[in-house]
Order: sequence, then C-alpha cells, then structure tokens
Amino acid sequence: MTNTNKFVDFDVVIAGAGVIGLALAYTLSKKGYQCLVVDKNPSFGEETSSRHSEVVHAGIYYEPNSLKSKLCIEGKDLIYKFCDAHSVRYKKIGKYIIASDKNQDKKLRKIQENAQKCNMNDLFYKNNKELEKDGLSGIFSALYSPSTGIIDSHDFMLKLLKLITENGSTVAFNTPVENVSFDDNKINVFFGDQYHLKCRFFINASGLHAVDTAKRIENISHSLLPQNNYAKGTYFKIFKKTPYRNLIYPLPEEGGLGIHLTHDLDGNVKFGPDVEYIDTIDYQVAKDKKNKFYNSIKAYLPDLNIDDLHADYCGIRPKISFDGKTYDDFFISNELVKGNKNIVNIMGIESPGFTSSLAIAKYVLSKYL
Ligand SMILES: Cc1cc2nc3c(=O)[nH]c(=O)nc-3n(C[C@H](O)[C@H](O)[C@H](O)COP(=O)(O)OP(=O)(O)OC[C@H]3O[C@@H](n4cnc5c(N)ncnc54)[C@H](O)[C@@H]3O)c2cc1C
Repeated sequence: MTNTNKFVDFDVVIAGAGVIGLALAYTLSKKGYQCLVVDKNPSFGEETSSRHSEVVHAGIYYEPNSLKSKLCIEGKDLIYKFCDAHSVRYKKIGKYIIASDKNQDKKLRKIQENAQKCNMNDLFYKNNKELEKDGLSGIFSALYSPSTGIIDSHDFMLKLLKLITENGSTVAFNTPVENVSFDDNKINVFFGDQYHLKCRFFINASGLHAVDTAKRIENISHSLLPQNNYAKGTYFKIFKKTPYRNLIYPLPEEGGLGIHLTHDLDGNVKFGPDVEYIDTIDYQVAKDKKNKFYNSIKAYLPDLNIDDLHADYCGIRPKISFDGKTYDDFFISNELVKGNKNIVNIMGIESPGFTSSLAIAKYVLSKYL
C-alpha cells in the first residue's frame, strides 16, 4: 500500500518514539503505509521505554480476555520471533513466583487458575522438594514460567528504528506535537514551531503524556478522556552474585508485580520496582527506600546485607482512571474525537507494554487503519 492521497504528506503521523510508536511505525511501514514518527525528545525511547525491567512477560496475571492478557501473550511470541530474525539479544531465563507460607500458596494457586483462564499454558506449580531440585532452597512453593525472559530493550528499539527507515518511513526528534485539527479528507498535525503536516491517520502514542496530547486534538471529547496518574517504580542494585539464575518474583502487590529480582543480559542484578503514586514526573531515586527494599528482598535472599543495596534508577507507570476508578487495562480507542475515526489514542500502556508492543501495533493496524 502506498500513499495515493495527494492531499497528504504522510499516511500516518505517530506522536511518540517510545517502543509503542516505533512498533507501530515498523508494523505499518511493513504494510506499505508511509509513516512519520515524531518525538519531543532528542532521541527515541528516552522515557518509560528505557526505564523498566526489560522482562518479556508471559501473561500470567492479567484479567482474562483483557487487552493486557491477549496482547501480552501474543506479543511475547512476536517479540521473540523478531529478536531471532533481527539478532536482538534476549534470554529465556525463566521466572519463579514464590510463596513463603500456606497462605501465600493459596494466592499462588489463584494466579495459576487465572493464567489457565488466559490460555497461558506453560506455567508450572512446584512444591518445596521440586524447588530444591531446581536449586532453590527454603521456599514453600512457586510457579515456574519457563518462557519469561529478558531482552536488550535498547537494541530492540534500535532495530525497529532501522527497519522503519529501510521501509521508507521517517522518524523525527525534537519535534513535539502541539495541536491536531482535521477537515474532510485530512488531519493537520502542528509542531512546536507551528510548522504543520497533513496525514490520513494520527496515532497518539505519547506514553506518560498521552492524555495531555489528546487534549490538544480538535473535538476531543473531554468527558470520555481518562484521568492521568503516575506510579513511580524504583530499582536498587547489588554488585554481588546471588544463588539465582532465574527471575524471582514475590506475589504481586497493588499496582505492580512486587519487588522482584531481575538480571540483565550482562549479568547485573537489580531489585524493583516498588509502587509510589506521584503528582508530577520526577526521576529522582529516593535513597531512603533502602530499608523497605531490604525487608522485602530478605524473604527470598536472607543472606543479603543492607549495605549491599545501591540506589539505581526509576521509571513511571502511566496509570489511568475513569471517575476516580483505576482502569486496569491498555486503553486504545478511535472514539474520543467527535467527527473523526482516523485518530487513534493509546493510553495507560504500563507493564506489560514493552512485551506487548508488536501485538499492540498489529491490533491497531487490524482494527483502526
Ligand atoms: C517501572 C516499570 C517497569 C516496567 N517493566 C516492564 C517489563 O519488564 N516488561 C514489559 O513488557 N513492560 C514493562 N514496563 C512497561 C513498559 O516500559 C511500557 O509499557 C512501555 O515502555 C511504554 O512505551 P510507550 O511508547 O507507550 O511510552 P514511552 O516510552 O514513554 O514513549 C512515549 C514517547 O512519547 C513522547 N512524547 C510525549 N508527548 C509528545 C508530544 N506531544 N509530541 C511528540 N512526542 C511526545 C515522549 O517523549 C516519549 O518518548 C514497565 C514500566 C515501568 C514504569
């Protein structure tokens, strides 16, 4: 498909060169759409897409039939296939979700039931003895997910960027979307300097700023817009070796998956993220969280010394809510703008957004373009 509409400069303009904007431009440009991805920052993926755990999730916890559940499970397969095809580093190191007593074990069983309802079939219950055989001692029980992995997220985005340009589409930095208007046959996208371009489709994939960007679109229905909330997640790291080769997760907590142990592909170990609701975007790491982290990690790493923990980095989850009630799914819609169905708003892309990125792009292509 090529751009046959003489009234426009691009088929699709995408606001945001995080992993979602890049996955969209890659997927659409492969189908022949001429895309322009713009970002207000000087480079790609400088916000949430480079401030996360780099885990390829298997789709264990999410509400059955939700977008998070379906797109995570599909996205995991797509991202691994992409990595194989384009030599992006990843490792399926597997993950254990651990229970430390009978009470927690009951919650573990519920998580397994949920995963089964989501048609997520490779999750295995292990008791204490079976875990000993895996080299995990002193743990009551656990769920083991062999297909959970870790990925070089920067390399993944870099490869998307390369393919986008090879497919004839364009990525522009330092180019914030200021306003969007439309008439019968085109959408006008205005940038910081009032320069503007015409396109057939506009996709708002601006992450933490998605609700603000939406407010700049002509005829946006304010009453249909979610409220924007930020939940910060902080990480601490250690420089010591641990007995674990896999990812170790406690039971999930309200708003997150619990302070877990993650490895990166270079063998570094980090812990996090916690969940802290904040009013404004702020990437300062609060060192005084050390005690909280220590107490939480002790459950699965009893030999840890508090002085081994060092403040690392943090990321911010874009949480959305309607009428004060948390909306616990990805929100993707072309219904927010009165009189134009070619404007797609993507909001609330928190975890497992990175894993789901290629599936989100496929979903947008099939449903809205
Ligand atoms: C602590 C934490 C841990 C996580 N761990 C994982 C994990 O292990 N696995 C996983 O799958 N997911 C994880 N996630 C989720 C994942 O990181 C996100 O879902 C994903 O990165 C979101 O990508 P995005 O493109 O929507 O947002 P972003 O990466 O934030 O990109 C949005 C872009 O839009 C740009 N922008 C904003 N406004 C404008 C404008 N007006 N004009 C132009 N550009 C604009 C911004 O500059 C930004 O670059 C985690 C998230 C957090 C916070």
